Amino acid sequence: MLVFEKSRPGRGCSTLPPCDVEVVLPGEKDKRERKLHMPEMSEGDLSRHYTELAKKSHGVNDGFYPLGSCTMKYNPRINEEMAALPGFTNIHPLQPEHTVQGCMEVLKLAEKYLCEITGMEHMTFQPAAGAHGEFTGLLLIKAYHESRGDHKRTKILVPDSAHGTNPASAVMAGYSVVSIPSSADGCVDLDKLKAAAGDDVAGLMLTNPNTVGLFDKNILEITNIVHACGGLCYYDGANLNAVMGTVRPGDMGFDVIHLNLHKTFSTPHGGGGPGSGPVGCKDMLSAFLPSVLVTGEETYSFTKPEASIGEMKNFYGNFLVVVRGLTYVMTLGKEGIPEASRNAVLNANYMMHKLRDLYTMAYDEPCMHEFVMSLSDLKKANGITAMDIAKGLLDHGIHPPTMYFPLIVEEALMVEPTETESKETLDEAIQVFRKLYELAQTAPEELHNAPVTTPVTRMDEVTAARHPILKYSFEG
Ligand SMILES: *Cc1c(COP(=O)(O)O)cnc(C)c1O
Repeated sequence: MLVFEKSRPGRGCSTLPPCDVEVVLPGEKDKRERKLHMPEMSEGDLSRHYTELAKKSHGVNDGFYPLGSCTMKYNPRINEEMAALPGFTNIHPLQPEHTVQGCMEVLKLAEKYLCEITGMEHMTFQPAAGAHGEFTGLLLIKAYHESRGDHKRTKILVPDSAHGTNPASAVMAGYSVVSIPSSADGCVDLDKLKAAAGDDVAGLMLTNPNTVGLFDKNILEITNIVHACGGLCYYDGANLNAVMGTVRPGDMGFDVIHLNLHKTFSTPHGGGGPGSGPVGCKDMLSAFLPSVLVTGEETYSFTKPEASIGEMKNFYGNFLVVVRGLTYVMTLGKEGIPEASRNAVLNANYMMHKLRDLYTMAYDEPCMHEFVMSLSDLKKANGITAMDIAKGLLDHGIHPPTMYFPLIVEEALMVEPTETESKETLDEAIQVFRKLYELAQTAPEELHNAPVTTPVTRMDEVTAARHPILKYSFEG
């Protein structure tokens, strides 16, 4: 039942203090023409409504959530405590600089540590998400070529194992996308890359480890090929969880990167809440960064680079997400950060190893932080699809892995356990996967009907896609 259906006229849960200033009502022309639809409920009913919804949904705090490429790790409570400190929450973006020095120190420290982790020299915290960071980074690349009077570069090279946001961001930045095929080992096909490199190439966008969970062993050669033709290299760092503190994109030859603080650096995500996709770059791109840069050693001030690409978001980005990310980095420290990555890689390899006798792995070699299985054999033999297994997991309290992605693997299930899961949780999940495989042989119809224990059971995906109802009709 929607909150609007529970609404009763006249109920509410706000008690405002008496107004102590002159009442000014909007003029006729500023009044809305139609009634504003707002639910009217008591605080108790409202609280129950959201508690009921929360119970029906699955989050990291409910159980295993191995959603590949999304890094659904546990987010330590201390991050929330720091982000809730009044000194961080009771500020206004228009406050004079000298009154927000502590907040500026947070930005400066976060820049310092994240530059150290990535091998970059500057960072902006304006972008609100990963894809927003990609777009920002591409505008930096564009501004760089244009500042040199180099206007012939119209193409961005994107390997076919890239995240879907990469080609989308390149098109948004006004580039055409040239897809570079992977070779049989899941890495970029170097001959195809060489053939595509030329003086019309503005740059390359690469995810490493890529979306099949493999670290491209030719990475130095790849960035060399792109630099040799005059292009720049963009690193999609949303998957940094596999390598943080171990290898640095800056050392791999990348010029500009984004990070997803809301994945690797432990801010809750998935519900559409605020994220942060900071963009780091090397010196030669810093002249084009968005307008707010924190400079200074002891007193901090904001500086706008002269050739800046301009604002990517109002003010300083999602500041409290940066507070969470900084808390996380400082809590883990120099030893903890690479250890977290090593455990993420260990957990993924452990699960993959315990499943590979039953499930076909898309690339049967040690993986990074995630692995991809292909269910096309199971589909041929038993008519059980990646979707059926994913739905079956729901009946065991497990959030499904990412399905049908990456596109280069048929019937793909992409599993990312993350470092915060215990061996017991992994063992339980392995047992469930094995049980579902068994069920696929003995009672496939049961899997076709799954899930049966969840608040919403098997959905009619076709009708949902063809005739989606996306809007609540107040009149109807
Ligand atoms: C999640 C992800 C993105 C996009 O990040 P958003 O914050 O969702 O915009 C980009 N690239 C990769 C590899 C990702 O996993």
